[in-house]
Amino acid sequence: VPPVVAIVGRPNVGKSTLVNRIIGRRQAVVEDVSGVTRDRVFYDAEWNGKPFTVADTGGWEYGVKGLDAKVADQAERAVDVADAVVFVVDATVGITATDEAIVTMLRKARKPIILAANKVDGQSQEADAAGLWGLGFGYPYPVSGLHGRGAADLLDSLVDEL
Ligand code: GDP
Ligand code: MG
Repeated sequence: VPPVVAIVGRPNVGKSTLVNRIIGRRQAVVEDVSGVTRDRVFYDAEWNGKPFTVADTGGWEYGVKGLDAKVADQAERAVDVADAVVFVVDATVGITATDEAIVTMLRKARKPIILAANKVDGQSQEADAAGLWGLGFGYPYPVSGLHGRGAADLLDSLVDEL
């Protein structure tokens, strides 16, 4: 059974886009309006000759009471079944209260965590990514799920953890 990598983060940070980048297909559901991603979806992936399973997460509704808790709860369930975690943050927005709820949960998780500073489409967002060092999850990998920038470095580190 290949190891499982959970892609977690609040709605709209670009999880499904990054999943599509990782699996090399357009399969994970990406929408401008959040809340459409199915509850959890597993995809086969491979990098540097190492097969693994990617778990996309999402599916929470916008505007519901207790969104932060719901997001963190679903992320926790994904982390529970995972061998490694990619925590996706929108570097151009920074850390929101919803992100914080996930951060609190991840600090208790005994799994390798790779921090993806997403939406770093170019050099001008590199400083935003560096600002995420303070989260305490190590190097914030600057990445653009949309354009592929930085994805190879992130995947190299990820499969090293598997
Ligand atoms: P999810 O809710 O976390 O799964 O986020 P999605 O993958 O559905 O993406 C949410 C929105 O962010 C979509 O409009 C994407 O096109 C956009 N997006 C995702 N990744 C990037 C990126 O690297 N750069 C930019 N500029 N936009 C992105
Ligand atoms: Mg999604």
